[in-house]
Amino acid sequence: MVVKGDVPQVRTTNPNQRVKYIRSLDKIPNIPPEDRAILEQVAEKFVFRANDYYLGLINWDDPHDPIKQLIIPRKEELNDWGQLDASNEQAVTVAHGVQHKYQDTVLLLCNEVCGAYCRYCFRKRLFMDENDEVTNDVSAGLAYIRENPQVSNVLLTGGDPLLMSTRRLTEIIGALREIPHVRIIRIGSKMPAFDPWRVLRDEELQRTFRQYSTPEKRIYIMAHFDHPRELTEPAMEGIACYLANGLICVNQCPLIKGINDDPDILAEMYETLSHIGCPPYYLFQGRPTEGNEAYEVPLVRGWQIFNEALRHGSGLARRARFAMSHETGKVEVLAVDDRHIYTRYHRAKYEHLRGRFMVFKRDDNAFWLDQLEPADDFDVLPLGA
Ligand code: SF4
Repeated sequence: MVVKGDVPQVRTTNPNQRVKYIRSLDKIPNIPPEDRAILEQVAEKFVFRANDYYLGLINWDDPHDPIKQLIIPRKEELNDWGQLDASNEQAVTVAHGVQHKYQDTVLLLCNEVCGAYCRYCFRKRLFMDENDEVTNDVSAGLAYIRENPQVSNVLLTGGDPLLMSTRRLTEIIGALREIPHVRIIRIGSKMPAFDPWRVLRDEELQRTFRQYSTPEKRIYIMAHFDHPRELTEPAMEGIACYLANGLICVNQCPLIKGINDDPDILAEMYETLSHIGCPPYYLFQGRPTEGNEAYEVPLVRGWQIFNEALRHGSGLARRARFAMSHETGKVEVLAVDDRHIYTRYHRAKYEHLRGRFMVFKRDDNAFWLDQLEPADDFDVLPLGA
């Protein structure tokens, strides 16, 4: 029994289970000895961290196991490809650890650690020694939000906010709730996948959620499941626990080669997510981030996979949008035909781009918006016009 009081009770076989963190590849006997030296080199550049529960989901007999691809370094990460800050987040940083790109939404980068490190992470720069973009001290962010009454949405992110202590998280959420114009608080987290017991065992955290996620102003968990194999029984119990304590759950994840670039896999995950009350929200095209070449799917292929996945399941399982988180905004891929790629700004950084419809020449090798050429046979404004 993990939830007490006047809220629905969530049961789990062992609510107090604690994951054991593993920071060294040496501790993973299944990695072949001949791969160790190069993978150590990779982990020196892009840090490795995992835990015993998540590593336990790997089928080591399968060389292409998706969970392994997600968490175990690969030598291809050393390929010279992409940029560390592919969406130029630096350009929308308005104070230490504070990003403001869309009028109503502010991001607080409040923690630089994650439950484990996804190899394809677009924010891997934050985990590098010399990086200083994150701050646990959110006072500058809170002051900024107070001074900007148009900010109704705050996303706690990082890193993973649920890796912070409950006391700190409660202080931040409580301070945000004292700002009347902040309506929605979102917590971007992969802890529902990496450590379901983070919420299940912590009654203080559950109380915080019950206190601050109110009928008028909800807290959202922006969960990050990438593959149906992550939706284990404890993970589902974890989602039930967030819901039972008044949170709303949705899922967003990137499309990643070798992990979920398969319509059946995506459809299965979306279907299960819709059953457990955590429906899909965004599927992101992978950003051209340094080290991520091996994880990228070309844009047209990505749209085909997404489109095929949406042929199955209920309407709730098909609510996701396929989008690129571009420097200029979230560009949704609407359709692809023999000659064109049709897109629209779902969110835009600049007023003049809001809702803009754009048509590009079809390019099956392109990965990102900047590689696309405007179609000359359509009377719509190209990007940047
Ligand atoms: S949990 Fe999110 S921020 Fe952390 S490594 Fe994974 S993708 Fe990156």
